[in-house]
Amino acid sequence: MSERRVLVHGGTVVDATGARRADVLVAGGVIAEVGPHLERGRRGTLALDAEGCVVAPGLVDVHTHLREPGGEEAETLESGSRAAALGGFTAVVAMPNTEPPADSAEVVRYVLERARTACCSVQPAGCITVGRQGKVLAPMAEMAGLGVRLFTDDGHGVQDPSLMRRALEYASSLGVVVAQHCEDDALAAGGCMNEGEWSSRLGLPGRSSLAEEVMVERDLALARLTGARLHLMHLSSAAAVAAVRRAKAAGLANVSAEATPHHLSLTDEALAGYDPVFKVNPPLRARADVEALRQGLADGTIDVIATDHAPHSPEAKQVTMCEAAPGMVGLETALAVALTDLALPIADVLALMSWRPARLAGLGDGQGGPLVPGAPAHLCVVDPARGWVVDPAKLASKSRNTPFAGRRLQGRVRHTLYAGEPVVIGEEAQR
Ligand SMILES: [Zn+2]
Repeated sequence: MSERRVLVHGGTVVDATGARRADVLVAGGVIAEVGPHLERGRRGTLALDAEGCVVAPGLVDVHTHLREPGGEEAETLESGSRAAALGGFTAVVAMPNTEPPADSAEVVRYVLERARTACCSVQPAGCITVGRQGKVLAPMAEMAGLGVRLFTDDGHGVQDPSLMRRALEYASSLGVVVAQHCEDDALAAGGCMNEGEWSSRLGLPGRSSLAEEVMVERDLALARLTGARLHLMHLSSAAAVAAVRRAKAAGLANVSAEATPHHLSLTDEALAGYDPVFKVNPPLRARADVEALRQGLADGTIDVIATDHAPHSPEAKQVTMCEAAPGMVGLETALAVALTDLALPIADVLALMSWRPARLAGLGDGQGGPLVPGAPAHLCVVDPARGWVVDPAKLASKSRNTPFAGRRLQGRVRHTLYAGEPVVIGEEAQR
């Protein structure tokens, strides 16, 4: 928590309660005052210009790979949380597919300890199964006791339906969320891009969207049976969106779904140049799938946008398509891609990226707002009119594997405050 007094002036405050022209005064780590024309001249107060900007609760990512422990050559909590702050995020949920994986209280404690000096709140997720092997349930109660609210074997789905059923029953008794990477291994096996017109043209082995559809349908049935909180990660296909829409329409209220900026913005045609930067799981799909995901966002079938920020070293990517590691970095471009490509009002984008994911992950501590006196000062200041070009060399992430290199985007984070501390000022990280 920062003792500093900060005045964010001249912007429009947008949070879950609506929009209003207001300055925001921050002192002692919390919001002291919100209102028009707050006093500017007081000595020792840092004034941050928000003219033409939206002042919003900090963004929240429920799906971030920070690679620590074990993958520090690709990312650390320090570099990843700096990238997050530059992207407007004040909280991220760190995926547990580290080395060793976060499948025990010991590893969760290690991540929490390292998180204390990060540029944003880092909430560790725990594994569903020991070693992410899909055989034996991990000690979820112990990890929940340390504050873990989301469990996932991400990178890999839980294949055994009876084990997934027990995970959901266990999670239900603990009041936590089970988040599934929806791909059936047998159906996805061997594929390194979407199975379709482009995989045939390029002569690359396909990964059928049926792998996603089958697991989504199975898990919806298990959620219906158990009543547990199920979150479906990075949906990519029209069939999966339709399945979730049907389930919600039939009254299934304990299920949520996410989509990533890359699945909402890019198609499998991007792989035409055989560049492994476009390899990701689940893979980039066809134009009709992208349209279905956007429709799913618009009608509430998909609840949140999550980055699936997945940093990889050059060695892991500069190989053939089939050998390359799947995944893309996304923290520093997520908001701009959403604002540029989705044709949604900024308040809707902020709902999808701030207060809804904060609620989904059970974060509390003022994450996701609203911006009211007394609340912890986690906020981002976004200039929606600012155009910029993505330059991989300038990313704060330790990794460069962005699929948006050279893309012109509109909308950029100008300032970010985490617990009252200005961690980003004028598009520059402060530590
Ligand atoms: Zn995944």
